[in-house]
Amino acid sequence: MIVKDFVIIGGGIAGLSAIKSIREEDTESSVLWITDEDRLPYKRTKINKNIVSGFGKEDFALIDHDWLVNNHVELLYDRVENIDVELHELAFKHRGHLRYKKLILATGNKPNQLLVDNLPEEKIFHVHTARQVENIIRFSKKSIKYLIIGAGVEGVETADQLIKMNKEVVLIDRNNTVIKRFLNQKYSDFLVESIKKSGIEFYPNITELNFSESESGKSILTFDDKKVEFDALILTLGYTPNTDLAVNAELKCNTGILVNEYLQTSNEDIYAAGDVAEHVTGQITGLWHAAERQGYIAGKNAMGKEIIFKLEPFRMKTEVFDEFYFSVKPQGDEDEVVTEEKDTVVRDIYIKDGKVLALFMKNDGARAKLYQQAIMEQWEFDKFKNEIPL
Ligand SMILES: Cc1cc2nc3c(=O)[nH]c(=O)nc-3n(C[C@H](O)[C@H](O)[C@H](O)COP(=O)(O)OP(=O)(O)OC[C@H]3O[C@@H](n4cnc5c(N)ncnc54)[C@H](O)[C@@H]3O)c2cc1C
Repeated sequence: MIVKDFVIIGGGIAGLSAIKSIREEDTESSVLWITDEDRLPYKRTKINKNIVSGFGKEDFALIDHDWLVNNHVELLYDRVENIDVELHELAFKHRGHLRYKKLILATGNKPNQLLVDNLPEEKIFHVHTARQVENIIRFSKKSIKYLIIGAGVEGVETADQLIKMNKEVVLIDRNNTVIKRFLNQKYSDFLVESIKKSGIEFYPNITELNFSESESGKSILTFDDKKVEFDALILTLGYTPNTDLAVNAELKCNTGILVNEYLQTSNEDIYAAGDVAEHVTGQITGLWHAAERQGYIAGKNAMGKEIIFKLEPFRMKTEVFDEFYFSVKPQGDEDEVVTEEKDTVVRDIYIKDGKVLALFMKNDGARAKLYQQAIMEQWEFDKFKNEIPL
């Protein structure tokens, strides 16, 4: 049976980063990279932000075929169905079996589903893969009315794209704010104002959903005293880590695959990185740069290094409705909040022991990198004011 030195399951940024990290150390070992998607690994963050413009199959590719050849990386388009940890053996959906010496699980996550009766399955869309977004783009040629359930970042960004395409968009959420993971009430209110101004109908605090079909075959959602007719239903309800392989292999899992600070799973030859990994703090990052960093460290540690992964503050930035939002959410133990406003820029700066620890900002996108640096390096507030004056 074929044996590979390193096998990486998952063609996302965590997987790619692990491979780059391995290749920094050693160009000879055999590296097999497996993706179950239909194209070269790509920049997932771009897909739902480019519904208006559309995109070609490899437009957002992270690498090309020459890169794979030059780095002696074999990319296999298949799905891993089982891991036998005793034999170090993988079973594929299409291509039999092979063995690994070290395995990195970078299998990401999957969109949460809606568990209610009478869902019109043929009208449900997601924005998790490029293929799914292409389906939305294709369907948009013949549909007008969109219902989006879930006003997190992906839902709001998708709503922004669809309204720019002159669609009728209804956005609903069970929470009372939008982008709840990253925005506080004040910045959510700003965003809700822009959402409504754009022509999107937004309904928060929705708990009970009833789907039905009209006599003429139209799909209808009823909630409270509202009736919404729709051609397409886009679900952006958050994500759940793809732990099936790990669970079946009896690796320790909670919501994600449990890893130690070296990103090693409960099996010493298997590492996990990116959206699938649950860290010692119980956190699952769900962000691009965090997945990239974890892939890098998992790759190094699979090569025998001992690098500790440190969670950095979660940062969100998004550009919607011609506005820019940036946040690193406060932990709640800050001493002081300084609010500053100039023209359309608003910022709330959270300070502890004289240092800037968290921030909400609107409409200062040109300096987003500086803001990020300030938080990551925990600048003194005086330095912050000098370097990023308003
Ligand atoms: C629409 C959208 C917009 C986003 N925008 C942002 C943003 O603006 N900023 C930000 O920081 N983050 C954003 N994110 C989150 C970010 O994209 C993820 O955190 C990041 O892509 C995670 O990378 P990953 O490598 O861990 O997983 P993924 O990118 O999910 O890759 C995992 C891959 O593994 C494959 N796979 C799973 N199981 C198997 C198997 N058994 N066999 C073979 N292959 C398998 C999956 O199909 C997938 O291709 C966004 C996410 C989405 C969906």
